[in-house]
Amino acid sequence: MTERVLVAGAGGFIGHHMAKYLVDRGYWVRGVDIKPPEYEASHAQEFELLDLRRWDSCLLATRGINQVYNLAADMGGIGYITAYHAQVANNNILINSHLLEASRLNGVSRYFFASSACIYPQYLQKQPDVTPLKESDAAPADPEEGYGWEKLFTEKLCQYFYEDYGLETRVARFHNVYGPLGTYDGGQEKAPAAICRKVALADNDIEVWGDGEQTRSFMYVDDCVEGIYRITHSDHRKPMNLGTDELVTINQLVDMASGIAEKRVNKRHDLSRPQGVRGRNSDNSLIKQVLGWEPSIPLETGLRHTYQWIESELRRTGRLPEMARRG
Ligand code: NAD
Repeated sequence: MTERVLVAGAGGFIGHHMAKYLVDRGYWVRGVDIKPPEYEASHAQEFELLDLRRWDSCLLATRGINQVYNLAADMGGIGYITAYHAQVANNNILINSHLLEASRLNGVSRYFFASSACIYPQYLQKQPDVTPLKESDAAPADPEEGYGWEKLFTEKLCQYFYEDYGLETRVARFHNVYGPLGTYDGGQEKAPAAICRKVALADNDIEVWGDGEQTRSFMYVDDCVEGIYRITHSDHRKPMNLGTDELVTINQLVDMASGIAEKRVNKRHDLSRPQGVRGRNSDNSLIKQVLGWEPSIPLETGLRHTYQWIESELRRTGRLPEMARRG
C-alpha cells in the first residue's frame, strides 16, 4: 500500500521541495499550509489550506496519515525572528504541540520535526572562527530568544512523545538552508536570498548587515530534503545536525554572489542592523557516523542556481530591466 504522508508547511520553502521529493519517490502526499506555495503549484496530490495553530486543523491534517514531516513554522531571517519574540514563539508552540498530539491520536507511526541551529548556546558562538557545534553542545541552554527557545522545547516534546507514547519522532537541527523557490523579498528572506537579490538589483553598492565578518555555513535545499528523508528513516531518535561545514563570512558570500553575477559591487556595512551570532558552523561527526552521509553540494554550485532563479524572478516581476538579461 502506498504510504500516506503529511507535509506540514508545504506552502513554504523547504516544505514545497519536500513534497516534490516525496511525490517523486512514490509517496501519496497531503500538503498543508496557511498559504499556498508562492512561486509554483504544490506537487502534493492533495493540498489543504489550514491554520495549524488550531487543534481542529491539526486533527484534519493528520487524518489517515502514516508519516508526518513538520516543516510549518512562523519564521524568517535574523531581522524577523529578533523583532517578534512573542508572536513567533507563541505561534510555533501552538503548531508543534497540537500537531504532535493530533498525530498521536490519529495513529501516525513516524514524525519528523524541523529544529534549528538557533537552539545552540549563544555563549559558544561569539567568535567568527568558531568550533563547529556538536549535538551535545545544546546544554547548558542559552538559545536564540523566542524562536530558539521554542525549538529547543519542542525537541524535548518530541522526546517525551516517544518515551511516553511510543511515537517515533526524529529531529534535525538545520543550519541555514537556501535555494530556488525560497522567499527572497519582503522581510522574511534569509541572508543568501537577500544578498542575491541585492546583488542582482545593485548599480554600485549593496547594504550588508553588520561588518560582514560574521560566519555561517549554508546548505542547499536538495541536500536538506535528502537529509530529512534519511534522518526520518534512520533509527536515531535524538536531535541531529543537518548542515554543511563549509564556513564562510557574509562578506565572502557577497563576493561569491557578485562573482556569479559577473558584477563589481561595493559593500556598505550597516552596523545598526542585526547580524545574529558572530560565528556558527555544523559539526557533522554524528550524521556521518549514523547515516554514512552528509550534505555535500558546494556553496558555489548551490548559490549559482539560487542566483539564477532570483534574477529570473526579478525579471519576471519587472524589477530588473530587460537590458540586464544575460544570454
Ligand atoms: P518557510 O517560512 O518558507 O515555511 C514555513 C511554512 O510554514 C510557511 O509556508 C508558512 O506559511 C507555514 N506556516 C506558518 N504558520 C502556519 C500555520 N499557523 N498553519 C499552517 N502553516 C503555517 O520556512 P522554511 O525555510 O521552509 O522552514 C521550514 C522549517 O525549517 C521551519 O520549521 C523552520 O523553522 C526550519 N528551519 C529553517 C531554516 C532555513 O534556513 N530555512 C533553518 C533552520 C530551521
